[in-house]
Amino acid sequence: MRGVRRPVVIAAIATITVGTVGTVGTVGTVAWCSAAVHAQAAPTQLPLLVHTAQVAGRAVAPAEFIADRIARANQIYAPYGVAFVATGQRKLADEHARLVTREDRDALGGEVERGVIDCFVVESLGDVDEPGRVRRGVHWHSRTHPGAHFVIVSVIAGLDVLAHELGHFLGNPGHSETPGNLMSYQRGEEQPFLDAVQIGRLQRALRGYLRRGEVRAVGTPRVAAAPTARQR
Ligand SMILES: [Zn+2]
Repeated sequence: MRGVRRPVVIAAIATITVGTVGTVGTVGTVAWCSAAVHAQAAPTQLPLLVHTAQVAGRAVAPAEFIADRIARANQIYAPYGVAFVATGQRKLADEHARLVTREDRDALGGEVERGVIDCFVVESLGDVDEPGRVRRGVHWHSRTHPGAHFVIVSVIAGLDVLAHELGHFLGNPGHSETPGNLMSYQRGEEQPFLDAVQIGRLQRALRGYLRRGEVRAVGTPRVAAAPTARQR
């Protein structure tokens, strides 16, 4: 098909320009193409508000813990034109440090702010479906605070967990069976990636968030510097 060839050429150029590498299979290659085109424009910078739980006056994780995971998320999302910026830090009370039940997670809905992606760092995160088991991260919709949803990462979360949970936040609620996919539980040797369908969902979710003001992009992307954005 003629329409398929063109993005491939653009992708080859974009790959050189952006300086990224990756081999992601047939479907993934198409995904990479559209993503690489976005990467040439300024990324949409999304604000992360980081709430770090405290136990006896001490943070459950040092600042580098979340900074490293945000940096990793930015590597993973760079091809998709999305970046995350920590725009605020909050201390989260001791009572929220160890999350066991659904109610524990729901209660975090009282801490969220509008216009940002709230990210909670906790000491432990229980599996609400399998008591006794622990999770590394989750994207959660509070039942007691309608409309509030956020990501939670536990201090045992590896480097890719925040990026995975942000993937859920950004329009991909399900998991992938493809090893190495960001939304799979199986890591590959390459940098985690999203496929074309997942990228489409991400873009739709992002447009919706921005349109509704649920998430407000940091600064104004150069490509979107239209007169309508001008202040009066
Ligand atoms: Zn998941």
